[in-house]
Amino acid sequence: MEETEGIVFDIQHFSLHDGPGIRSTVFFKGCPLSCLWCGNPESQSPQPQLMYFTHLCAACGNCVKACPNRAMSFVTDGVRFDPSRCSACGACVPGCLRGARSVSGMRLGVREISDEVRQHWRIFQQSGGGVTVSGGEPLAQRNFLLALLRELHDEAGLHTCLDTCAKAPWAALERMLPHLDLVLLDIKHTDDEKHREWTGSGNADILRNAQKLVENQFDVLVRVPLIPGFNDADADLYDIADFLAETGLKRVEIMPYHTFGLGKYRALGKNYLLPAATGSRVPEAVDILKSAGIEVEVHSI
Ligand code: SF4
Ligand code: SF4
Repeated sequence: MEETEGIVFDIQHFSLHDGPGIRSTVFFKGCPLSCLWCGNPESQSPQPQLMYFTHLCAACGNCVKACPNRAMSFVTDGVRFDPSRCSACGACVPGCLRGARSVSGMRLGVREISDEVRQHWRIFQQSGGGVTVSGGEPLAQRNFLLALLRELHDEAGLHTCLDTCAKAPWAALERMLPHLDLVLLDIKHTDDEKHREWTGSGNADILRNAQKLVENQFDVLVRVPLIPGFNDADADLYDIADFLAETGLKRVEIMPYHTFGLGKYRALGKNYLLPAATGSRVPEAVDILKSAGIEVEVHSI
């Protein structure tokens, strides 16, 4: 059964890096993986969450008065947030004049999203762009995803792209294909145990889905997040290159590591567990993947 509403945490327009042309990108909330390097930690939980940016807080106490759940309280040096009491109701957000509070995740309907992105129709036409559904993991809300893709692709005639970690049954991904033009497929590591250690889950179904996409002759651009200590050693990169070449995946985009999401970890009260990294092995990764006959691009950050 299709669902016409889902939880989305952002819609960005004029995106140049989520598929061809100029695009609107819709970010679904919720992900089956919990990658240690995740740049969007607010995407992992399927539920709306309050983000509290303490560096912006003036300790005025407006949120303490507004909160019905006593999640905010006065302490000697300002205010304190207790996430365990927070229902993400958002009552404290309007009164925060410093913009220190926001709720990540809103329930949106297919029609609302479609109306918003269709305003950019002319730009899509002129640039060869369209709409990318990203996350989080869009397949985690698969009935909503199907309804949205049917609307955008089949009804509105837009170019659609799915940005996925592919941690889902093949049948779920297969159901989306008639309503998609391109899949951006994350391949993070070929070793199941290492994948489990760094993302919280094994990779057997992900690699199988990659093979199935090729068997179905579907247009795929593989994305490899290049993470220091995880997959940037020569041996890891040769294994990825071998897998891609053997599977027949011919195009790769390397996603360089960054730490732009650190402030969001703090705002969610989460710890960033990845050890500090030095240096980048993007040039080496490009050379190794190219040596397997793969077309390689590097994602702009
Ligand atoms: S309303 Fe905003 S600025 Fe005032 S105490 Fe709460 S978070 Fe801080
Ligand atoms: S989102 Fe609601 S429950 Fe959470 S701190 Fe703000 S007012 Fe309280």
